[in-house]
Amino acid sequence: MDERIISQTENAQDQEWSLRPQSLKQYIGQNKVKENLEVFIEAAKIRQETLDHVLLYGPPGLGKTTLAAIIANEMGVQLRTTAGPAIERPGDLAAILSSLEPGDVLFIDEIHRLHRSIEEVLYPAMEDFCLDIVIGKGPNSRSVRLDLPPFTLVGATTRVGLLTAPLRDRFGVLSRLEYYNETQLTTIALRTAQILDIGLDELAGLEIARRSRGTPRIANRLLRRVRDFAQVLGKDIITENLANEALDRLQVDRLGLDHIDHKFILAIIEKFRGGPVGLDTISATIGEESHTIEDVYEPYLLQIGFLQRTPRGRIVTDLAYRHFNLEVPTE
Ligand code: ADP
Repeated sequence: MDERIISQTENAQDQEWSLRPQSLKQYIGQNKVKENLEVFIEAAKIRQETLDHVLLYGPPGLGKTTLAAIIANEMGVQLRTTAGPAIERPGDLAAILSSLEPGDVLFIDEIHRLHRSIEEVLYPAMEDFCLDIVIGKGPNSRSVRLDLPPFTLVGATTRVGLLTAPLRDRFGVLSRLEYYNETQLTTIALRTAQILDIGLDELAGLEIARRSRGTPRIANRLLRRVRDFAQVLGKDIITENLANEALDRLQVDRLGLDHIDHKFILAIIEKFRGGPVGLDTISATIGEESHTIEDVYEPYLLQIGFLQRTPRGRIVTDLAYRHFNLEVPTE
């Protein structure tokens, strides 16, 4: 089978996997999601059934893939992973589904990007563990039902609003992942430092956490970049001062905003008088794809209250003006 379409965790060698916590106990934060999953997993085990299908949603880098792997670990089953855009034809998905072992967890990342025709293959698979296959064409075609082993689908999406209702309704568990607070991100940075054998002071960890915009993936990335500075400077331990200096040089400001956030906010302020302005207009102005702005940049700016979404477009708030030391306009 095409490696691009499906890969087993054993083969995954990228560093991100080595940093991923393996159990719910090691998974930091997201307490509500974790507590609920603990109950559902325990109950499924007692009943000796597969876990109900789980939909995880929230901004990128918050730990959806990690949770899918943990669910498989906790259930003691194999994880198979794929992503919406990698599945091009209904047959691709049928092949994946029919290769599952009983109990497997199938993780589909970016599930909102599945084609409608492919999604339809999922409905009977999720509901009755079977595949409806059409053999032949025209008047002689007939539909054959194939049984599948019971499995758990874990879907992940950054855009739950784009999921069709029939697909969303087939998930028994819907969990929204939230941004992490500074304490949780500090713990994550310190844990990653330990795994990668990096000397990291607690206050330096806190500084990295503060600038990680609530996101573990960013905390891990900033830690690795700060380590580069430390190594070049011949320092064994990352201190608060060193972290600050490196993060400033990386152009990540005290709130974790980078040059694209700056470009985005400043464009609205300088070219559109603070808004309202439509997403496509800003996207064309700053040369960033609108869906990247919507998925990656806006959620955090909305969360920290720098931006408001209104029916007439995006508006920059007074808080953002103050962050950039700009005079707040008076009406
Ligand atoms: P998503 O699938 O939501 O984009 P991932 O699961 O790939 O996010 O997580 C990104 C990185 O952040 C992973 O390398 C993982 O190690 C780390 N990470 C995510 N959530 C946690 C957590 N709760 N505790 C520790 N590390 C985490």
